[in-house]
Amino acid sequence: MTARKLAAGNWKMNGLAADLVEAEALAKAFPSPKVDVLLCPPATLIAPMSAKVGGSAIAVGGQNCHAVESGAHTGDVSAAMLADAGASYVIVGHSERRTDHGETDASIRLKTQAAWSAGLVAIVCIGETLGQREDGETLDVVGGQLAGSLPDDCTAANTVVAYEPVWAIGTGKVPTLDQIAEVHVFLRAKLEDRFGAEGAGIPLLYGGSVKPSNADEIFGVSNVDGALVGGASLKAADFGGIIGAL
Ligand code: PGA
Repeated sequence: MTARKLAAGNWKMNGLAADLVEAEALAKAFPSPKVDVLLCPPATLIAPMSAKVGGSAIAVGGQNCHAVESGAHTGDVSAAMLADAGASYVIVGHSERRTDHGETDASIRLKTQAAWSAGLVAIVCIGETLGQREDGETLDVVGGQLAGSLPDDCTAANTVVAYEPVWAIGTGKVPTLDQIAEVHVFLRAKLEDRFGAEGAGIPLLYGGSVKPSNADEIFGVSNVDGALVGGASLKAADFGGIIGAL
């Protein structure tokens, strides 16, 4: 099985109703893209963005979900709510959530299962810090996160893995192509070991300072099936350049 290609945009805590014009522009620019295209706006924009791009090739996703379906969890949003608002994906375990909200591999695993229960595809994020890379721990760290964050029933249809070195996120610093290749080859082998043919088909995204100017060379690295893009996904022109390179 070969993994499908996916260009995923993560707007993080950016975007007001006026910014939905960017999603509309993207839908217009890519009426039938040759790869899957996804935008993950803040929770407040999931329903209106879904309404705007409904019927187009652009999918909409959340940036986080709670591990349970409903209940006394003030301020949280469940996977079922995301799906109800029009989402078909959810990002789980982004490094900003691991850092800012104390998310662990164990909690991310539960969120992934919650996402599946609501019919969402989970994009599970992993990645080492600069200190861990400098200490030569990168493969140990990402291997541990992969093993701990993924439940046992991962398939090519319900899971995407995003490798995002923490030190490359929002910094303009990008690993060398060899460094990206080393991690992606390692992760692909781990996915195949654990999930067999399904593991071969799980899309493996690179994330961290992907821009139109570097997307082409990053997508040329074997086992890179797309990108999770933060800053450069906010404007249709920038994200379009990345989609076009995939
Ligand atoms: P960046 O963010 O593209 O702005 O570096 C990537 C991410 O955090 O997903």
